[in-house]
Amino acid sequence: MLRMVKKVKNLGENRLSADILIVGGGMAGCSLACALAGAGFAVIVLDRVDQSQQTADEFDGRASAIAEAPKKMLEQIRMWRNLGQNFAPILDIRVADGSSPLFLHYDHEDVGEDAFGYMVENRHFRQAVFARLKELNNATYLAPAELKDITYKPEGVQAELSDGRRIKAGLLVGADGRQSQIRQEAGIKLTSWSYHQTGIVLTVDHEIPHHNVAHEHFLAAGPFAILPLPGEGGQNNRSSIVWTEKDELVEDIMALPEKEFAREFNQRFGDFLGEVKFIGPRWTYPLTLQYAETSIAERMVLVGDASHGMHPIAGQGLNMGLRDVAALAEVLTDARRLGLDIGTASVLDQYEQWRRFDNTLMLAMTDGLNRLFSNDIAPLKLARDIGLAAVNKAGPLKKVFMRHAMGSTGNLPRLLKGEAL
Ligand SMILES: Cc1cc2nc3c(=O)[nH]c(=O)nc-3n(C[C@H](O)[C@H](O)[C@H](O)COP(=O)(O)OP(=O)(O)OC[C@H]3O[C@@H](n4cnc5c(N)ncnc54)[C@H](O)[C@@H]3O)c2cc1C
Repeated sequence: MLRMVKKVKNLGENRLSADILIVGGGMAGCSLACALAGAGFAVIVLDRVDQSQQTADEFDGRASAIAEAPKKMLEQIRMWRNLGQNFAPILDIRVADGSSPLFLHYDHEDVGEDAFGYMVENRHFRQAVFARLKELNNATYLAPAELKDITYKPEGVQAELSDGRRIKAGLLVGADGRQSQIRQEAGIKLTSWSYHQTGIVLTVDHEIPHHNVAHEHFLAAGPFAILPLPGEGGQNNRSSIVWTEKDELVEDIMALPEKEFAREFNQRFGDFLGEVKFIGPRWTYPLTLQYAETSIAERMVLVGDASHGMHPIAGQGLNMGLRDVAALAEVLTDARRLGLDIGTASVLDQYEQWRRFDNTLMLAMTDGLNRLFSNDIAPLKLARDIGLAAVNKAGPLKKVFMRHAMGSTGNLPRLLKGEAL
């Protein structure tokens, strides 16, 4: 299909003009920029953090489980190929409730050929998406760049940066994460609560290969996840750990001398992967739920964590952000094909309607799972163990859960089906 490609305009005197300005060049913001620029829009992305800092080993430490459907989109927007070998497929998921012998076992072959998802270190995701952005000559990435002021007008937005640059655009996207300045300045209400839990994130090498199995152990303080990564030299002996702990214990755990930390760790990790070696630093992430009352306002739209932040229990936060990206890119592309102004309420409303149910459902699901499993109240434990065993035996119900984990349920935008925009 012939595509009209518009370029970012330099209007002189530090003034730039684009179709779309994305504030926040994280994983969601940059994926959106690639999708939109690939569809011919002139896009500017800005981030307050420099790219080299965002891809440095010590910046993030997390790895993300990318579900099959968002992976199809990342292939379609030509970001995935830049990952090279830096991903590990998840072929099996094993869920255990503490030391209970009852567990849930998901095998990808029960629903077809595709893997459930793919583990990608966040720094590798960022490197790959930045590399794709560089290839697109109608996308401009500005960093470090700080927003000073935004003016919303019926015909467009004007942003002023603290270094004096001015940017005009037809639509502003807030992809600026949980503390979103764009959301706050638009006066959008936020519902939020703390789980009083913290995710301790680290990477380990282990003696025995993981065989691409992801493990989730539900412990009383919260889930303990062991997620397969590609090891050095293609060996399957590296895993990313998300150890959920009660807030009040985290400071002490992080301050433990190496041997004692290892003892605490091994009590939770077990010995099924043999001897373990810690790789690199450890990070902590306070766990909260938050949800913006709406993700649209005049000439403005929110995507990713700026709109919804959830518990990592099911590894779905970024996946939901990527589903936002796919839906928004489709709505905007279709509107332009019809000759509509992409920043108008009727266009943005289609995005809001499309994403609200899916995001609300996932927020409720992750919240409910965490409440159900992060305790050792005896009757609850018995009920959930019976539930896990029942789901494990009930073929059709299990398949529904599996397809959900792969992100292939619901009214999917074209990009999530691996189709062009
Ligand atoms: C422990 C843990 C494990 C997780 N595991 C998974 C998983 O396995 N799978 C999954 O799908 N999700 C997972 N998540 C969730 C996932 O990490 C987030 O949903 C995702 O990082 C959000 O991406 P984002 O681009 O929306 O926001 P962010 O990553 O927060 O990016 C926002 C960007 O905006 C920039 N910014 C902020 N404010 C401004 C400003 N005013 N001006 C300019 N720039 C600004 C920031 O510098 C940043 O680059 C996990 C989360 C945690 C805590």
